[in-house]
Amino acid sequence: MIEVSHLTKRYGGHTAVSDLTFTIEPGQIYGFLGPNGAGKSTTMNIITGCLGATQGEVKVNGYDVQDHPMEAKACIGYLPEIPPLYTDMTAGEYLRFVLQAKGVKRKDWDAQLRMVMDKTRLHDVKDRLIANLSKGYRQRVGIAQALLGNPQVIILDEPTVGLDPAQIIEIRELIRSLGKDHTIVLSSHILSEVQAVCDHIMIIAHGRLIASDTAENLTGLMKGGARLVLLVKATDQQVRGALWGMEGVEHAEYAAGEDGTTCVTLTARNGEDLRETLFFRFAELGLPILEMRRDRATLEDVFLELTQADDAGDAAEKPDEKQGGQEVEGA
Ligand code: ADP
Ligand code: MG
Repeated sequence: MIEVSHLTKRYGGHTAVSDLTFTIEPGQIYGFLGPNGAGKSTTMNIITGCLGATQGEVKVNGYDVQDHPMEAKACIGYLPEIPPLYTDMTAGEYLRFVLQAKGVKRKDWDAQLRMVMDKTRLHDVKDRLIANLSKGYRQRVGIAQALLGNPQVIILDEPTVGLDPAQIIEIRELIRSLGKDHTIVLSSHILSEVQAVCDHIMIIAHGRLIASDTAENLTGLMKGGARLVLLVKATDQQVRGALWGMEGVEHAEYAAGEDGTTCVTLTARNGEDLRETLFFRFAELGLPILEMRRDRATLEDVFLELTQADDAGDAAEKPDEKQGGQEVEGA
């Protein structure tokens, strides 16, 4: 279990991480989701003891990362954003080197190597130089080194960045399979990735944790979780008239449709189902409803709403932040 409390990191006058508090429970896959520059790598570097915090503390299985780094780090395997690979070693040599660095007993080496190479399917390339491996295989080697020593928690910083679509699918499957034996924390700026792999999502923007829940609950959290979209053969005025004073309607937006129709988007109070009431009301007034559909908020809506609300104050802090937003949309 990892307990992060009131974690803050400042670089000079710039606050990269601000008062983060959360708990990572065993046996789940967690996703840090946030645009570039949100503070994901900084948080991971502090949790893994690679970087000191300005304020706050991190405990791993009860061990404070700053006071008991050896004990805390022994529980964690880490794949940083830029994998720490020595490209002039073969995959096998490199993994032995990591075993030695992690202080794993020599008698356990063979079993450990076999175990991680089984999991990451590296047997076929173990005698090849890392320099000559594809990016997907290099990432597997990076994940394999994190698994050595069999740590309970595996932390992966943007594990699929720079991979082609087929490699991305492979690495996601690998992460899901590792989730059976390990607690996993991964970061990504791509919403669909986090949605595809993680049980629990933490949305981070500008160094702050702005939401933390399951994907399902996050979608429910969006205001007006259940919206209704109606296309009515009537004028704007007639539709407004029909809805006037109707119980249960919290909010309505009107737009002109084609050929004398009006499109109205309704938000029901407390997620109430208004479909029948609307049907009879409009029928009574002789206004045909041509279309009626439920419009559930997607996680993407939630993400954009939460991060944009947060962005309003300081828009263009650094150029790649815009790119992050776009990729979330297109992913
Ligand atoms: P993410 O991983 O979410 O993209 P980072 O944790 O890398 O975000 O960065 C968070 C913020 O801290 C960014 O604004 C970044 O520019 C800044 N930052 C990161 N590392 C340093 C550093 N060593 N010195 C100064 N600023 C930094
Ligand atoms: Mg990063």
